[in-house]
Amino acid sequence: MGRLRIGVVGGGPAGAYAAWQAAAQGHEVTLFDHRAPWEKPCGGGITVKAQDEFPWIGELEPRAREVTEFRFRSPTDREVEFGCPRPTLIFARAEFDEAVRERARAAGARQLALKVQSVERGRAGWVLDAQGERFEVDFLIGADGAVSTVRESVLPDFPDFLNSIAAGFFIPARLERIETKFFADARGYLWFFPRPDHLSVGLCLWGGESGAAAGRETRQRLLELLETYYPDLDPGSGKGYGAFIPTIMNPDCWKVPRGGRDWALVGDAGGFVDAITGEGIFYALRSARAWSRALAAGRPETYDKVWRSEFGHELAKASALVHRFYHPRFIERVIGFGAKSASVRRLLSDLVMGNQSYVTLRRRLQREIVRGAARRMTRFLKPAAAAR
Ligand SMILES: Cc1cc2nc3c(=O)[nH]c(=O)nc-3n(C[C@H](O)[C@H](O)[C@H](O)COP(=O)(O)OP(=O)(O)OC[C@H]3O[C@@H](n4cnc5c(N)ncnc54)[C@H](O)[C@@H]3O)c2cc1C
Repeated sequence: MGRLRIGVVGGGPAGAYAAWQAAAQGHEVTLFDHRAPWEKPCGGGITVKAQDEFPWIGELEPRAREVTEFRFRSPTDREVEFGCPRPTLIFARAEFDEAVRERARAAGARQLALKVQSVERGRAGWVLDAQGERFEVDFLIGADGAVSTVRESVLPDFPDFLNSIAAGFFIPARLERIETKFFADARGYLWFFPRPDHLSVGLCLWGGESGAAAGRETRQRLLELLETYYPDLDPGSGKGYGAFIPTIMNPDCWKVPRGGRDWALVGDAGGFVDAITGEGIFYALRSARAWSRALAAGRPETYDKVWRSEFGHELAKASALVHRFYHPRFIERVIGFGAKSASVRRLLSDLVMGNQSYVTLRRRLQREIVRGAARRMTRFLKPAAAAR
């Protein structure tokens, strides 16, 4: 395989990282993004797991807010608070994404502030139409986010997975911890992410397997929740946003290929988001890295196999579990046990750091609950034993 002309559509974390890695391998890379740099609606949270997998994120730490404290509120308003030994880093996305693009440019990628309006097959490779300019490339990367033009062109029959919608506000307020509130109707959660100089508040709702949640309903519900639970926060003082979060609830959707002979979908364009936590930045980087590894091996067409073997099972497991995970009885119990048991709180801490796999979650939870109950029973019996 010689030097390829690679067109990367989208300069978020997935596209910027793919461009960086491909340019570092000596390919001719063009990165298209008409909006960059911009503040993508997002929590901007980067887990410990992601920091460990991509150590260069550590260099950006001074630009992030470090948060180690968490609070979860159950559907009936029970609470559990816990700390983590290492921080989640929270970035303004304009800064984080630009830092990745800077690395892509430094490696030799050319960045163009153009919107790609259509892609079609050329005599060899692809022809991209970007605001009246035509570009020919040998390999096409779709990194253009949840509502992807490239995906529509390369995989017109891709199953619809945009059934989750977020509404939120960037509010000029300060909070020391990440907070999450769950609901009785099991259709999503409310979050508070402290950013370096403001607070990102959002509500994620999904419409269930039957379809998408509506943007207006989500926004209305967010305003009502803020008024009820956080009357001191004034959403009117902030900037509102609405956005899709790819949430694959049907595990079969993972069977559809994300790459072919001369194309690949990375990040949100391929639906690479953990359906339970909504964590997408990590999987944007991971999918782009899987592709760049296939490229480095001289076989970019094997990308579909590479991402599946590296992390496909984790995402499929999250999709299989998401409905049970958000079941109000389950959430209520976990938060209830967490309030009483230090070992359940440690489990929650591992979960938010990304160090607890979904595969072993149930077994560990059962073990910790039984242990906690045994410890409480022992404490309860001790004074009685001492009195005898
Ligand atoms: C409200 C909300 C909160 C979230 N919170 C978190 C969180 O805290 N942590 C986390 O890990 N994930 C979070 N996510 C998910 C995360 O934002 C995404 O998974 C992540 O941004 C995906 O990166 P990406 O590069 O694939 O896509 P994006 O970041 O969406 O980037 C796509 C880029 O493509 C560009 N583009 C689009 N169309 C074209 C075109 N036709 N031509 C040229 N350029 C184009 C856009 O301008 C954009 O810059 C959240 C998502 C939402 C909506």
